[in-house]
Amino acid sequence: MTRSDELAAGLASTRAKLAAACEAAGRDPGEVSLLPVTKFFPASDVALLQALGCTEFGENREQEAAAKAAELADARFHMLGHIQRNKAKSVARWAAMVHSVDSPRLADALERGAAAALDGGLRDGPLPVLVQISLDGDPARGGVPRADLDELCETVAEAPSLALRGVMGVPPLEADPEAAFAELAEIRAGVLERHPGAGVFSAGMSGDLEVAVKFGSTCVRVGTGILGRRPLTSLP
Ligand SMILES: *Cc1c(COP(=O)(O)O)cnc(C)c1O
Repeated sequence: MTRSDELAAGLASTRAKLAAACEAAGRDPGEVSLLPVTKFFPASDVALLQALGCTEFGENREQEAAAKAAELADARFHMLGHIQRNKAKSVARWAAMVHSVDSPRLADALERGAAAALDGGLRDGPLPVLVQISLDGDPARGGVPRADLDELCETVAEAPSLALRGVMGVPPLEADPEAAFAELAEIRAGVLERHPGAGVFSAGMSGDLEVAVKFGSTCVRVGTGILGRRPLTSLP
C-alpha cells in the first residue's frame, strides 16, 4: 500500500465516522468540517492529502507549521497549539485561523502581528481567531478559564486586525467526554449570543469526535485517524 493509499483509507474511514456521527445527532453533515491535523508528519503527507482534495490542515508548533506553509504555498494551515508571544508575529503571517487564543496578552501580540502582516501585504484580511476554553484551568493544556472568557472575547472582538470566529475546546484529561462537551456547548452558546459572528465550535479529535458532533461541533480536528500514529519527534 502506498502512503497515498493509506491516507485515502484514513480519510475515507474518518469521513464515514463523521457522517455516521452527524446522522446519529440528526445534523446536516455540511455543518461539520473535517480538519486533518498534520503535526509531526512531513510536508509530503500534506501534499498527498491536497491531491486527495483537502485544502486546510491543523498544526500545533509554530516552527514546523511555518516551514510547511513556506513549502506548500496553496495549503492553508490552522494553528492549534500553544503560542509563545514572540512567535505571534510569524503565526499571524501564515495562519488561516488560530484556534488557541487563551490570553489578552496573546491576543494583543497577534493583533500587532496581523496588523503588520496586513500592512506588508502578507494577509488580505483580518486573522480569524478562536478563543480556547479551559474547563479545568490546567495550564499545560492551555485555554482560558471560564471566569476570564468574556473579557478575552471582548479583547479579540475589539482588535481591528483580528476576527472573532468562535471557540475551541479540548476536554480535560480523565474527564467524562459527554459532560465536558456539554459544558463546552453551553459556554459556546453564551459566546455566540454576545458575538453572533462567532459560530465556529472547534471540538472533537480522533477519539471523541462522535460526542463532540452530538454537542454541536462545527469542526473536528483529526490527526491519528487520518495519518496514523504520530512519529515521536516534531519536524523540522
Ligand atoms: C494533535 C491535536 C489534534 C489531533 O489529535 P488526534 O487524537 O491525533 O486526532 C487535535 N487537536 C489538537 C489541539 C491537537 O494538538
